[in-house]
Amino acid sequence: MMHPDVQSLLAVQQDDLEVYALESRLAALAPRLAALENERARAAQELDRARKAIEADETRHREAMLKVDTHRQLVERSQRQYESVTSPREANAAMTQLEQTKRMADDSERDASQILGRIGEMRHHVAELETALADVEHRQADTRAALDTERAEIEAEIAQARAKRDETARAVPKPMLAKYDKVRSRRRAETLFPLRGPSCSACDTAIPTQRRAVMAASGTIEMCEGCGALLYAGE
Ligand SMILES: [Zn+2]
Repeated sequence: MMHPDVQSLLAVQQDDLEVYALESRLAALAPRLAALENERARAAQELDRARKAIEADETRHREAMLKVDTHRQLVERSQRQYESVTSPREANAAMTQLEQTKRMADDSERDASQILGRIGEMRHHVAELETALADVEHRQADTRAALDTERAEIEAEIAQARAKRDETARAVPKPMLAKYDKVRSRRRAETLFPLRGPSCSACDTAIPTQRRAVMAASGTIEMCEGCGALLYAGE
């Protein structure tokens, strides 16, 4: 016949196993949430990179436009020089100078307009990435809401299960409960096992007759030296 204290402790263990099962369900939500977060973060990062690339090209474009200004001023100066020459020899030199500065101005204008074209394409790409991010967020909204609901439900169930456990535990003598809790918090799983014949039913290690006799007579729980589980007599 099983001791009533052991019966009470088995009821506590049943409640604990329910709490653990709920906690496992709660923990299983985390990777699902993380997967959503990763997917969103990838889309957001790609958008961020594209925006930064535009900023870099906008800086390049400003620099290119400064160069264009400088070269245009050179063209004007060369033009004035060419117009003020007084000899054919000077005219030749001034014309060469003017043509050179015009080529430089043309080159820098072409550079600036190439950068501007690239910025236009990149803005288009950014708009696409913004749409993609919005799509991800829209698609995830329902899943996230469902996850939130599920988490709230499980948390409520856990609170209930813990309250039930505390109530059940009041029937168990404090030292016995403390002994059980110490082992349980390490195992986070089934902790209390019956003797099966002369052995631990969790690992089959044989328990000395003397110890089995004490457990049967006084209803105490004893640790199995083979597996660390707590054993009780009387099933
Ligand atoms: Zn054992």
